[in-house]
Amino acid sequence: MIAVLKRNAGQEDKEKVIRVIKEENFDVHPIQGVEKTIIGVLGNQNNRTKLKEKLMTMSCVEKVVLILDPYKLTSWNFKQEKTVIDLGDDVKIGGSELTIMAGPCSVESREQLLKTAEIVKTGGAKILRGGAFKPRTSPYSFQGLGEEGLKILSEAREKTGLKIITELMDIEHIDVVCQYTDIIQIGARNMQNYSLLKEIGKLNKPVMLKRGMAATIKEWLLAAEYIMNEGNHNVILCERGVRTFGEETRNTMDLSSIPLVQQLSHLPVIADPSHGTGRWELVTPVARAAAAVGADGIMVEVHPEPENALSDGPQSLKPEKYYSMMVEIAAISKTLYSFESSEKKIAYV
Ligand code: PEP
Ligand code: MN
Repeated sequence: MIAVLKRNAGQEDKEKVIRVIKEENFDVHPIQGVEKTIIGVLGNQNNRTKLKEKLMTMSCVEKVVLILDPYKLTSWNFKQEKTVIDLGDDVKIGGSELTIMAGPCSVESREQLLKTAEIVKTGGAKILRGGAFKPRTSPYSFQGLGEEGLKILSEAREKTGLKIITELMDIEHIDVVCQYTDIIQIGARNMQNYSLLKEIGKLNKPVMLKRGMAATIKEWLLAAEYIMNEGNHNVILCERGVRTFGEETRNTMDLSSIPLVQQLSHLPVIADPSHGTGRWELVTPVARAAAAVGADGIMVEVHPEPENALSDGPQSLKPEKYYSMMVEIAAISKTLYSFESSEKKIAYV
């Protein structure tokens, strides 16, 4: 439910409305728009009729709107402006620029990561990816370097100025991961780990929530609601392909989910063609397509020697392939941007 305050409502009115909402044991999420203040009401749906009636009697309240669709905090009904995650130093996700996150699947050694970070930076990406806690399908595969990997990532950040994204797998690692990372990645396998999502929701850190490998769009957005419902609204979504019957690719990259989710939600959506395809030679074409459908960013795996990678070598780009991909997607996003702004011009005249 949202309460829209009248144009002339002042600070005192806003505080009064918040008090009434809290008295009924609901939480509030005020949004200061350019013209009006909107107060988002969070809590148990069953008790909202009484509160709605109370709010409607207040003279400073213009209207009270029940949000009936399953998505509440993620939806455009709740927030009419697109979410832009500002990581500082002019690195933004969800703004007018396509944001690129690149790096190895796993942090394997200091030498490997620092070398890859230089490559990532040279190619123009702003965010370095690298797993330190790895969710491997087999318990016998490389499981990641743990905190040592996080330290190497933060050394790479110091040396290059790149921001960092790394996966968090367990509640018990929240403190250590948050100490080093700029963005927490929640992997496909944990998309429906609701206790983990709720704990992440209590933090102030940006979170990138990957789509589960068998998750519907609804399940994915509801997982984002779990995080946002606890107060953390810095959520980024990531399409990384879903499991279908084909064996030729690791997953089936669902490109249509990107504009679809953008229709439903104000949250930025990143595309991951590396896990989406599992094959390096398909990564660039699918990255181009993701830029063309309007993804807010792209995450790709890059490795100086994919043949020796400890995880996901077959889907990792060699440096020269990464450089050419960057040039190609930059051209596409530029074209798209001018196309979008000319469309806007036509709409407004
Ligand atoms: C990864 O990004 O390395 C990863 C494990 O991805 P996903 O959770 O999408 O499988
Ligand atoms: Mn990987």
